[in-house]
Amino acid sequence: MKSQDVRAQFLQFFQDKQHAIVPSAPMVMKNDPTLMFTNAGMNQFKEYFLGNSKPKSNRAADTQKCLRVSGKHNDLEEVGMDTYHHTMFEMLGNWSFGDYFKKEAIQWAWELLTEVYKVDKDSLYVSVFEGSADADNLKMDAEAFDLWKAIVPEDRIIMGNKKDNFWEMGDQGPCGPCSEIHVDIRSDEEKAKVPGKDLVNQDHPLVVEIWNLVFMQYNRKANGSLEELPAKHIDTGMGFERLCMVLQGVKSNYDTDVFTPLIREIETITETKYDLDEKTDIAIRVIADHVRAVAFSIADGQLPSNTGAGYVIRRILRRAIRYGFTFLDTKEAFIYKLVNTLSNQMGKAFPELKSQKNLIENVIREEEQSFLRTLDQGLGLLDTVIKVNKGKEIDGDKAFELYDTYGFPIDLTELIARENGMTVDMKGFTEALEKQRQRSRSASEVQTDDWQELLDDTNQEFIGYDYLKADVRIARYRKVESKKSGTQYQLVFNLTPFYPEGGGQVGDKGYLESSNGDVTYIVDTKKENNLVIHITESLPTNVNDSFKAVVDEHQRQRTASNHTATHLMHQALRTILGEHVEQKGSMVHSGYLRFDFSHFSKVTTDELKQIEDFVNARINDSISLEENRAMPYQEAIEKGAIALFGEKYGDVVRAIRFGESMELCGGTHVQNTNEIWHFIITSESSVAAGIRRIEAITKDAAKEYFATETAKFNEVKATLKNNKEPLKAVVSLQEENANLKKQIEQLLKDKAKNVKGELKNEVEQIGDINFVSKKLNLDAGGIKDLCFELGNEIDNLFAVFGSDAGGKAILSCYVSKNLVEEKSLNAGQIVRELGKYIQGGGGGQPFFATAGGKNPEGIDEALSKAKDFIK
Ligand code: ATP
Ligand code: MG
Repeated sequence: MKSQDVRAQFLQFFQDKQHAIVPSAPMVMKNDPTLMFTNAGMNQFKEYFLGNSKPKSNRAADTQKCLRVSGKHNDLEEVGMDTYHHTMFEMLGNWSFGDYFKKEAIQWAWELLTEVYKVDKDSLYVSVFEGSADADNLKMDAEAFDLWKAIVPEDRIIMGNKKDNFWEMGDQGPCGPCSEIHVDIRSDEEKAKVPGKDLVNQDHPLVVEIWNLVFMQYNRKANGSLEELPAKHIDTGMGFERLCMVLQGVKSNYDTDVFTPLIREIETITETKYDLDEKTDIAIRVIADHVRAVAFSIADGQLPSNTGAGYVIRRILRRAIRYGFTFLDTKEAFIYKLVNTLSNQMGKAFPELKSQKNLIENVIREEEQSFLRTLDQGLGLLDTVIKVNKGKEIDGDKAFELYDTYGFPIDLTELIARENGMTVDMKGFTEALEKQRQRSRSASEVQTDDWQELLDDTNQEFIGYDYLKADVRIARYRKVESKKSGTQYQLVFNLTPFYPEGGGQVGDKGYLESSNGDVTYIVDTKKENNLVIHITESLPTNVNDSFKAVVDEHQRQRTASNHTATHLMHQALRTILGEHVEQKGSMVHSGYLRFDFSHFSKVTTDELKQIEDFVNARINDSISLEENRAMPYQEAIEKGAIALFGEKYGDVVRAIRFGESMELCGGTHVQNTNEIWHFIITSESSVAAGIRRIEAITKDAAKEYFATETAKFNEVKATLKNNKEPLKAVVSLQEENANLKKQIEQLLKDKAKNVKGELKNEVEQIGDINFVSKKLNLDAGGIKDLCFELGNEIDNLFAVFGSDAGGKAILSCYVSKNLVEEKSLNAGQIVRELGKYIQGGGGGQPFFATAGGKNPEGIDEALSKAKDFIK
């Protein structure tokens, strides 16, 4: 069965059982500080499990893009080593939100596997949670046991411990006991030797877990205790690639049609056959896996970078590059070439891969090239280290420096060391690494308390599109402690006019006023899942009071102006540069706006001018906002609204229209474009391969800009004493300046000639040597010229000159070449010694040298000592 059909049958099966089929959430997380990436199908439904909001349908099914490379679920080191763990994989899942529970979940899973997919019943094992005697003190899941016993022989049921049979998303949040379904795909001979039951959960590559049915019953609180959830839910997750392996009768996920096209392409590019040698096989699997994770992340809007989620993506890609570099001998960028195959193969199920193919290729190629350069530099450095320490051990700190500064992987350092008959101090390396981890861990540690519930009201209606003030109550609050921000409080109201950070727009600021007039400032507003969280630095004295919540209106207006300008500029970019322009990031502050977009070359000055003019024309046209808060998604798209990849949209969306510009957007906007006043682009730059950034200002900031620029200009005109034609005045000043410079040069030359004439008269003959020393009013260049001219005219010359160039002392010494040898006079040595009188030093060649110092007062003394060098 083709993988496409496996996916389709799963969804059809649950659709027939009244499940709503929902799209995969983006793989890169937004609005959830506890997770960087989606690591399970249930993430996007977390708020339903916690009872924070209600789903439209209480049954759902989907296939979810997951990434397990950080946090509680991190499989990165396994990937490539084994044949059934991936960084990015699809998780097929079905959900009940307070609807059906264990009975249906178990029955349907069994029906789908054995009757629809026709998996051999005798190859399946199931597990049940055995309970735990630890602090949680949980009972065995007898309900699940009984349900399974009615379907499968008892000897196929395995009692599982907490590690395997109690599922938790993270350190906090919904969790519960689970039943896993395992499949044994070994040959009959192997099965006869060792019973499959003994191999379940033993990391055997052919006895693997394919489906996990989680029975959500608890919420793990901040203090580690469990609390019963208000309603019970079902959360299941089946590994799509593993299921394909079983249904396609192969022994590895990489032998399914999900991976074979990629593997064939890697074989062709690297001229290395798969399935011949374990070392190269691992490298090929790593690359086939990682290119998917990286490509999907980029499509979701997460570019490789130096921090946070972007850094995780960069590390995954670098892991692939170095496996290629070390084991497949790939010294040039090649991973980007696989994107074509990937997009042909998966573009149907995930159209974002097709539409962003060019960008994904460009970003990966650039990352590859730059990391390969780094590897090259690291190799050079390592070479030196090896030469210096010949035969000895490579210092742990040095290995760490290579790793940390040059991204040079430790296994590569070890490998190269071994080739040179050396070892690496691994203990020292691990210590240095651990020290660094400790440092970054304590910097990012956040301690979040449990919510204190005050009101039952979980409605939290956002009324900020219409109101900037409201009477509110605090529904819940909690304390959050971090190194970065200190102690803060997070407050949730029953309703709120505060806009939470999102869609690139900053969160509102403002204050809460209690009934007796006390004020608590709200320093930021954020969104966590569906909750609007108001951040304060202290807690109001009486949290049960009723409050007036007031948004900082001035900031909001400036922000709205920048947000609308962003839409207009987006339209301008697509009109002027072309339809290939796609938003890749946006930041809307009150002070300015920043917009990143895909475009392959620098935006020219002329294009920037056109963009500014385009936006300003729309501001001039006084276009009114047409806001539709509840438009069916399909209708909006058909009407030409711009939607962004990596954003999660519901069936009903908010559409924002200003004339021809229409976007799906949750942000706040002006009522009429004329409120923006004026739009000015302040910079254009590059952020990554194929991605440009424009920064711009509007409204008050534009007024301030004009005011300061005008003031500066007026100052210039006043200084020039020419109000009418300042430019002409500047040009004529420049010309005058150039003429004067020429004249000065000529005068200096003449002066040097005169000085030379005078000096010739002052030369003193001491033995065979013609000696002269004097303080001159010339710069270093002038003195040098003079020395050589004198040297040409006077034989056996020994000259020392000093000068005071604007508070800095200079000493120069000239010695005719024959004197250097015959009389062992050395100009370099002489200035070095005389240098101490001017508190400085210098050097040069034996026949000419110069010293500089900070004590001009010492020049005379230095000159008086010069004669002493003649013995
Ligand atoms: P394992 O013990 O094999 O790592 P798990 O207990 O971490 O699995 P769950 O968190 O229960 O798995 O996820 C549900 C299903 O997703 C698993 O039954 C498996 O089929 C699949 N799965 C989990 N992790 C991966 C991965 N890294 N790559 C591919 N599929 C996975
Ligand atoms: Mg796992």
